Amino acid sequence: MSLHAELAADLELREAQGLRRRRRLLASPQRARVRVDGSEFVAFCSNDYLGLAADPRLTAAARDGLERYGVGAGASHLILGHSAVHHDLEAALAEFVRLPRALTFSTGYMANMGAVSALVGRGDAIFADRLNHASLNDAALVSRAAFKRYAHGDLAMLERLLKNTPARRRLVIVDAVFSMDGDIAPVPELLDLCVRHDAYLLIDDAHGFGVLGEQGRGTLAHFGIGSDRVIYMATLGKAAGVAGAFVAGSGELIETLIQNARTYIYTTAAPPALAQALLASLEVIGKEDWRRERLRELITQLRAGLATASWPLLPSQTPIQPLMVGDSRQAMALSERLAASGLLVPAIRPPTVPQGTARLRISLSADHDSADVQRLVDALLEVA
Ligand code: PMP
Repeated sequence: MSLHAELAADLELREAQGLRRRRRLLASPQRARVRVDGSEFVAFCSNDYLGLAADPRLTAAARDGLERYGVGAGASHLILGHSAVHHDLEAALAEFVRLPRALTFSTGYMANMGAVSALVGRGDAIFADRLNHASLNDAALVSRAAFKRYAHGDLAMLERLLKNTPARRRLVIVDAVFSMDGDIAPVPELLDLCVRHDAYLLIDDAHGFGVLGEQGRGTLAHFGIGSDRVIYMATLGKAAGVAGAFVAGSGELIETLIQNARTYIYTTAAPPALAQALLASLEVIGKEDWRRERLRELITQLRAGLATASWPLLPSQTPIQPLMVGDSRQAMALSERLAASGLLVPAIRPPTVPQGTARLRISLSADHDSADVQRLVDALLEVA
């Protein structure tokens, strides 16, 4: 069989199993109300939790950045791509999350790959929650450290693994807010285990940054934690509404990443205009508490509205509100029924989530209003 015939057979199999992934065409900015495939929808799909992706203040800052710096960075950070505005952004991010230093990466995927493999390698060990994001799993594999996974949230299992490891350097890596479940990791307890077993804790705050903690300072602020055992990572394409990511921690950590993180070194720096937009975003995140309050109200409304639905909402206090359906084809059918009534909610299927746990992943944004949420609740109750 030719390669192409094999690929066609694989694709057909996926289709038959209800697992074929398809892209919709978005023709408007990323907002609660979008134009997709030629029609108008209310979308519950984005990670734009604070509704900043199309905020005029951020686009004005980006435009100003384009005028000042041009479009492309033109080189990697270590050659001549590190603009003054990248540097200002690092300082502002470190200050915002109250850690000594920060380093930006072009994407969160790259930040995780770069940080993990710069810090551990052969002879070291990584301990990871089973429901961590794919980028943390891939980072662990690339690092060549021993890779031990513990059942979701199972601190006793983690402790057993930590007790039995001969590894010199131990790194626990975890999503602070689990991207497909919406629950918050028990960071204080994880940190306590790290202290007792001489391990370090890398937390991926992709979904907590901007949303949790006072002024949206993230999961460390949410728990009131500061420790030199924490390596903090967050992304800037979700609540911050732009693109990219950063790692924050000690000066030694950041200098080491500048020397060793391959996804930092061997890639062109992100356009400086994006850093300018991110500086504007940080200001808005810090001062507009009403966006987080709106989110809290919408979360409460959705959970109350769906309390009696046929499918349970997972226990989440964050804007990620998954409705557990189970069967992939049923989740797809449900998503399509909602789309027919003008509501976009993605069906998340294996391998993104474990077998038998396909779900509708409802993402709320401060750009939604209570009428949007009511429409979704009514539609779901009717379909049920
Ligand atoms: N970590 C988590 C927990 C995520 O959900 C994501 C994005 N889906 C990433 C990392 C990757 O971030 P980015 O989209 O910036 O590559």
